[in-house]
Amino acid sequence: MRFFSTERNAPDLDFRDAVIQGLAPDNGLYFPKFIPKLGNEVLSQLDELSPVDVGFYMMRPFVSDNIREEELYSILQETLSFEIPVVQITEQIYTLELFHGPTLAFKDIGARFMSRCLGHFLDKGDKVTVLVATSGDTGSAVANGFLGVDGIEVVVLYPRGKVSKIQEKQFATLGENITAIAIDGVFDDCQKLVKTAFLDKELNAKLRLSSANSINLARWLPQSIYYALLVPQLRKLAGSTIDIVVSVPSGNFGNLTAGILAQRMGIPIRRFIAATNANNVVPEFLETGIYRPRPSVQTVANAMDVGNPSNFARLVELYGGDTEEIRKDLRGYYYANGEILQSIMDVSDDYRYTLDPHGATGYLSLKEDHLDENEVGIFIETAHPAKFGETVEQATGMFPDVPERLRAFAEREIVSIPMGNDFRAFREFLLA
Ligand SMILES: *Cc1c(COP(=O)(O)O)cnc(C)c1O
Repeated sequence: MRFFSTERNAPDLDFRDAVIQGLAPDNGLYFPKFIPKLGNEVLSQLDELSPVDVGFYMMRPFVSDNIREEELYSILQETLSFEIPVVQITEQIYTLELFHGPTLAFKDIGARFMSRCLGHFLDKGDKVTVLVATSGDTGSAVANGFLGVDGIEVVVLYPRGKVSKIQEKQFATLGENITAIAIDGVFDDCQKLVKTAFLDKELNAKLRLSSANSINLARWLPQSIYYALLVPQLRKLAGSTIDIVVSVPSGNFGNLTAGILAQRMGIPIRRFIAATNANNVVPEFLETGIYRPRPSVQTVANAMDVGNPSNFARLVELYGGDTEEIRKDLRGYYYANGEILQSIMDVSDDYRYTLDPHGATGYLSLKEDHLDENEVGIFIETAHPAKFGETVEQATGMFPDVPERLRAFAEREIVSIPMGNDFRAFREFLLA
């Protein structure tokens, strides 16, 4: 498989080179030349195949001969090493719990797959430095995904005092090949330092720098797998003739666009819903046909505080650039903080289920959407509620149960390096 840049001003690459490259040199995102269709031997067997088998059939056409089949299989075994259950909430609404991974968020899937692919592509003795700027969730998933991977050094930059304590504990306590730098500044400053490093000629001559940004193909593609995994589970619970509607809490739109990719490959999902917080550029686009990116505003579902979603280019590409086709297919809803908090309380009271603030937007949009009689709605729970425990407590009066994995992080000591918002200092550090 070859991948082209959505800006169409860079050479096509295979999977290996596109993963190492990250963002295309023309600032576009890599996108497959064609979308492979799954055969009937897979589609008619979704309930029989193991999750790793399903992942293997879905990823093989993209990876083609860049990774040997046995190796791809073992990468997927490590990626899909935790359960991804479907849980019923109301009569017509279910959730896919994607928070049973090491950092309790769906980003674990993409981060684990990418780290292992990149590790595989390095020759013995090669060294790559992965730079990542984070406002919270990305840093923890990437750091834990790459922890202990040979040949890869990860440097996480985050704004000091501006990520939640528990998020900081998840990426700034790891040691080994993970270094966390606490920058005196805001998230945008961290991102700027990373971008400046990629443009610095001398730095790039001395170090092999790579990005684990969410636009990387190896983070995007594997997210299509769990859309296939939800189908047999949901049919078992709700009936084999249902039409499935998936609502995806969205920020950068990597998750939702991976779902649409799965649908194009033949996974039987009837339609999708884009659920957002007050950062509603995409729901607004679906309503008006005009895409108007703007600075993000802070909300209680802060992992979705994105004002210019980077995967919008992939959404456009999935519909061959036809805005009207997107608008026919996809519905969008957005919710204010008050509505999000209210729904966390209501669902806790009425159904004894604890939503996290991101999943809450997915739930709300399925309620608002008026599903047909034969439709069953499922939203993606993108994070465990305990990761956003203060917000959940604000809504329900109760701090959610904290899973052992998260508690273990809380007890660790932060070992980050403080640094001013100063590129020269950052550069010195990387060269040292
Ligand atoms: C990253 C994230 C999202 C948004 O996912 P995108 O793929 O960027 O749309 C939603 N919820 C949580 C908890 C996240 O960490």
